[in-house]
Amino acid sequence: MHRTKLSAVIIIISIFFITEPSSASSWVNFPTSWDIGQAFAISITSTADYSQPMVTWMNRTIALNVEQGGAGKISYGLLGSDVRSIKPGNYKILFEFIQNGKKYRASGNIKLRARQYPKENLSVNPKMVNPPKKELKRIQNESAAIKSALKTMTVPRKWTTPPQPPLSVITLTSTYGKSRVYNGQPRAGHNGADIRAVTGTNVRAPFAGTVLLAGFHYYAGGSVYIDSGNGVITAFFHLSKILVKKGDTVTKGQVVAKSGATGRVTGPHLHYSLILGGQFVDPIPLLSTSITKMLKNGEPQQVN
Ligand SMILES: [Zn+2]
Repeated sequence: MHRTKLSAVIIIISIFFITEPSSASSWVNFPTSWDIGQAFAISITSTADYSQPMVTWMNRTIALNVEQGGAGKISYGLLGSDVRSIKPGNYKILFEFIQNGKKYRASGNIKLRARQYPKENLSVNPKMVNPPKKELKRIQNESAAIKSALKTMTVPRKWTTPPQPPLSVITLTSTYGKSRVYNGQPRAGHNGADIRAVTGTNVRAPFAGTVLLAGFHYYAGGSVYIDSGNGVITAFFHLSKILVKKGDTVTKGQVVAKSGATGRVTGPHLHYSLILGGQFVDPIPLLSTSITKMLKNGEPQQVN
């Protein structure tokens, strides 16, 4: 560039910053395409403070936090889509926040791609495929309690990445997303990962949080659900022993239960689910990554 032109550009830029000292620049970050069933990271970041950051995805509005980082201030979120209910296609994501008394909205589309998850045939106790009539009420009540627990939306963020692996050795016996045929009858796909564990193995909380639900359920057996803020919930099934109760605060890595073989199982193992804004996603990839790395899959888009 010619020297005089360059000076002119510098002068114009300087004037802009001198005359607009309170202007803020903000961005949202999200991946424009992603696989169904896999977790992804989103963020809002700004050079100036803002409040009430929120993201709406799959009909759920998730409250975020404002923290130090990024361009100055940053809000982190983890989202995903449930392989059992979400079809490939374009889905809208909406970001909102308030800055200098003004409400900002930024929306975009995320193209969700199909992913081939394997199928598996399992043999279980017949009453776990077609439950006896006397158990139907119990199953209904448990399903209502779980549905309501999964609507929990709290701040602040208590989750930090990578999570604490729930067991000290992670050997998968069944992966997330498998469509399942029990005793020849098709049922909903696998909403988590099964990890090898002899009965009585310590199960650790992946994130700090609050126990949402703890008890023995018909299908899932001994179950613990932990809320870690911003719609991030983890759950363990088929436990032999539960060491926490609803409302307890847990720290990251705290032993919350002992693994077992209760509920609809073919043998002892730990079932681990990760639920993001109500969507059950594959919990395993997150064990070996961080929010910072995940955000690199996104494309920043300027809001102001
Ligand atoms: Zn499982």
